[in-house]
Amino acid sequence: MAPKLLLVLAICRLIIIVGLTLNPTDLNLNTDQHHLESASTDFGKLTRSEPIAVLNPTSTADIAKLVKLAYESPRGFAVSARGHGHSINGQSQTANGVVVQMSGPGTTTPVAPLVSEKLMYVDVWVVSFGLTCFEPPLVWARTQIVDRLFIPFGWWDAVERRDQWSGVRWIRVLYSNFSAFTHDQEYLISLHDQPQSQKFDYIEGFVIVDEGLINNWRSSFFSPNNPVKITSLGAGGNVLYCLEITKNYHQRANVEAIDQEVEALLSKLNYIPASMFTTDLPYVDFLDRVHTAELKLRSKGLWEVPHPWLNLFVPKSRIDDFDKGVFKGILGNKTSGPILIYPMNKNKWDEKSSVVTPNEDVFYLVALLRSALDNGEETLTLKHLSDENSKILNFCKESKIEVKQYLPHYTTQKEWMEHYGDKWPQIYRRKMEFDPRYILATGQRIFNPSFGSDPRSSW
Ligand SMILES: Cc1cc2nc3c(=O)[nH]c(=O)nc-3n(C[C@H](O)[C@H](O)[C@H](O)COP(=O)(O)OP(=O)(O)OC[C@H]3O[C@@H](n4cnc5c(N)ncnc54)[C@H](O)[C@@H]3O)c2cc1C
Repeated sequence: MAPKLLLVLAICRLIIIVGLTLNPTDLNLNTDQHHLESASTDFGKLTRSEPIAVLNPTSTADIAKLVKLAYESPRGFAVSARGHGHSINGQSQTANGVVVQMSGPGTTTPVAPLVSEKLMYVDVWVVSFGLTCFEPPLVWARTQIVDRLFIPFGWWDAVERRDQWSGVRWIRVLYSNFSAFTHDQEYLISLHDQPQSQKFDYIEGFVIVDEGLINNWRSSFFSPNNPVKITSLGAGGNVLYCLEITKNYHQRANVEAIDQEVEALLSKLNYIPASMFTTDLPYVDFLDRVHTAELKLRSKGLWEVPHPWLNLFVPKSRIDDFDKGVFKGILGNKTSGPILIYPMNKNKWDEKSSVVTPNEDVFYLVALLRSALDNGEETLTLKHLSDENSKILNFCKESKIEVKQYLPHYTTQKEWMEHYGDKWPQIYRRKMEFDPRYILATGQRIFNPSFGSDPRSSW
């Protein structure tokens, strides 16, 4: 069809949806296939919903106008914000309305992020990167990210400490004993109130059930001079646990002092002595490590594939049972991607946010960051990995391990109510206050809007 005709049809469709109250061209809505296509998918590549149009806002007024229009139109239509579309289950998608592209082109003048530590928010809608966000009210949902979620990405650190750190000592040690591993991780996070010289700056962990994954993309700790052979460690058993830690330092740091600080901290840990690897790198390279890994995977065609990721918060009291049932049980000896594991202190999480954490002072994040491939190997298929995710969730249910999903995905309100537990009344109250027609963030599937008939079928 000729592009002009397509445009006319799209505008007619929009006019019908918005109830003839506004000319969609006033809002600069994009209806070309390129914009619609990129707003129809996400990193997960598990679901696809094509919006009716995409808004590339040039100001907050554009967004306000769109939301007002959606509210005032007789039928209503959905408005979904989209950052980078890094979610897995269509959270930023909608088939019933307009996607607001919050990052990338469309903004004319880059504006620095607005950060309020006191009010606990960071307003970054005009800059080109994504946010972890859950349900409306939008601003409220954006608060939790500041010191927690993006430390693994390093972005917050980058903003906060760009001028402060110049180098990173990056250390990796292995364990074959799960209790020794968790004991050490918990010890290290218990040091968070200690002076800078007496703690590490970053603590993460991996489960290694598959030798090929020892240098996995999420770790991107690549040590070509020291290739690790699991068998050579004489650890016994098939599952290993990797602790990854860093120490930041200043440009003019006294190297001997850094060595001593690191040595003192390491002397308290019970890892396999022969398993230690260390590297020094610029601080910014450390922050950018996931991006570097992304580029490598992209070049091999391994990035644009389905990602049936599963992120769970596991209570500390049941992490041993989880290890036995999942890492040493359900997963077998192929994982198809990195498995992160590290403990967190509950009091570091803001109870006012929409994240739900287990009811224990310390809980673990277990992130199964797996990629599905269609190369003939059954254990790598999307079906196999999705079935395994279901098995893991069922195992937790049957064993009464009260896990909570991080970046959760549910399809019924009943499941969402169970997920939120005591927080549900507050979630519901806020939804009614800020979005009583349920038109925002419909891709989260917590509240189902009723638009009368599907707007698409009306033209
Ligand atoms: C390679 C990779 C590594 C990751 N590592 C980590 C990690 O280390 N730690 C971690 O916590 N998470 C991590 N994540 C998860 C990531 O933080 C979340 O998926 C996050 O939601 C991505 O942000 P986004 O803006 O791209 O989200 P989108 O998928 O675009 O949107 C997610 C939700 O937020 C809403 N939304 C988006 N932008 C806005 C906005 N400006 N205002 C209001 N609502 C908005 C959307 O409507 C949707 O409901 C990782 C993801 C990937 C792909």
